[in-house]
Amino acid sequence: MKNLCKGCSESVIISNDVVDEIILGAVELGKTIVSNSIYEERLRICDSCPSLQYGTTCKHNGVFVRYHAKLAARSCPYPHDPKWREHV
Ligand code: SF4
Repeated sequence: MKNLCKGCSESVIISNDVVDEIILGAVELGKTIVSNSIYEERLRICDSCPSLQYGTTCKHNGVFVRYHAKLAARSCPYPHDPKWREHV
């Protein structure tokens, strides 16, 4: 990866296992998650978005997209033109 901020990069690059644990915690708290097909479509959009930083984090809300995209009530925070929307 190019142009990584050393101070930030260690905190925004986490393993898939850690993200899975965070998602499991959200489910245990009663959060509704999306189907795998919706999840993969959201991640596909994020992967091609210029706002994705470090391959993990959205620059508009600072959230890990692998977590954010899994939650049904969440939508893309892209200003004025969300690239994906909530599924509730
Ligand atoms: S702006 Fe939307 S599409 Fe782009 S990285 Fe953030 S959540 Fe994903």
